[in-house]
Amino acid sequence: MSLLTSKPKGTADVLPGESEKIVFMENKLRECAALYGFCELRTPVFEHTELFQRGVGETTDVVQKEMYTFEDNGRRSITLRPEGTAGTVRAFLEHGLFNEPLPQKYFYLTSCYRYEKPQAGRLREFHQFGVEALGAGSPAEDAEIISLAKHIFDLFGVEKLRLEINSIGCPVCRKSFQAALRDYFTSYKDKLCETCLTRLEKNPMRILDCKSPVCGEIAKGAPRVLDYLCAECEDHFAQVKKYLTVMGIDFTVNPTIVRGLDYYTKTVFEFVSDAIGAQGTVCGGGRYDGLVGELGGVPLPACGFGMGIERLKLLLEAQETEFPPPDRVQLYLAPANAAYSFEAMRLCETLRSEGVSAQTDVAGRSLKAQMKYANKLSARFTLVLGEDEISTHLAKVKNMDTGEEKEVSLDRLAGDFLKILLSAQLGDIPAADAEEIKLTLLNGGKNTWNV
Ligand SMILES: [Zn+2]
Ligand SMILES: [Zn+2]
Repeated sequence: MSLLTSKPKGTADVLPGESEKIVFMENKLRECAALYGFCELRTPVFEHTELFQRGVGETTDVVQKEMYTFEDNGRRSITLRPEGTAGTVRAFLEHGLFNEPLPQKYFYLTSCYRYEKPQAGRLREFHQFGVEALGAGSPAEDAEIISLAKHIFDLFGVEKLRLEINSIGCPVCRKSFQAALRDYFTSYKDKLCETCLTRLEKNPMRILDCKSPVCGEIAKGAPRVLDYLCAECEDHFAQVKKYLTVMGIDFTVNPTIVRGLDYYTKTVFEFVSDAIGAQGTVCGGGRYDGLVGELGGVPLPACGFGMGIERLKLLLEAQETEFPPPDRVQLYLAPANAAYSFEAMRLCETLRSEGVSAQTDVAGRSLKAQMKYANKLSARFTLVLGEDEISTHLAKVKNMDTGEEKEVSLDRLAGDFLKILLSAQLGDIPAADAEEIKLTLLNGGKNTWNV
């Protein structure tokens, strides 16, 4: 296959028909974020490589194996973002946003890049919705972002979803936990994979989320972080659970969740579904009190989550969510011969300026071929512009669903057509309500005309 007509492995084209679904999802996500007071923050697709080495962690799978890193022509090491948090925190520090009232609550909808084995819902270029609350140390914020994630799933009607939470402690309690892990894994030294042997020295916690099946099996018997929490972390975790209970959010404690990135502290959580195969995590997040300080800022507590758009879409499709149908062309104007195509273009412009989607022939087709095309577009209405119509300034608008025809004046086309459109749309609504809606639209709507 030619490289010119095939996309790189692990990428996807989103074609019309699918793109509307993504836009629908993105709009809902933006609405939910606004409901909880999160504002959109956009950061560059690429950053200095050091940011991710520091911000994600040298010993993580992401940094060691999965980053798209290259040297640019100025000999800088550049990396395509593998996740959204590090860039968000970098922007927060760079623009001094820590001087604004805290917490600062941001969301992003963005593409991310990881060199992984592509599988359903996991591409090398993937898209993430994420939220970050910077400067919020209370367990209430942990509960708030969990509630936001749950709100999103509820809004999309996602059922059979489990919320699993855990605490992975802070640097204080992690010391004794790391020591216990090192003791445990040292006794399996001859069985661990090569990467994990390095991790054993540098960061034994990372062995817990190694993707090798052998390491995974050994990890099952490892010490549990919950048994090593210090008093502060213990109390924080207890309060998160209390908030969730008070807010009516069901959860289970899963002591094996550690999350694959180094910056997490205290609360970690995942929303898991069985509907999309074995690795059914559709949202993961937690607290990362160490990250802002790690990147050179004043130490500030923070928490957030990320949600894969492709995985969310898989989930919605698995449960047969109905997406709104794509917008239809409202009126197709067909000039009966080429001489009338100027008038057809002019009328299209008047319709569009009133907010009516309109199309006409731009391919020099015969009238018959145009009607065929209008059908394929599933235009709701058509209008033929022939000799009579041009001389009398009167034309018939045909409803393509019912076959019904109504007369309009070409001099008042937008107004006449909007009335037809409105009555077609109000057709199913009880007469009294329809009248009221009509009045509202007439008085306050964007499309006004003389009744
Ligand atoms: Zn602790
Ligand atoms: Zn391993």
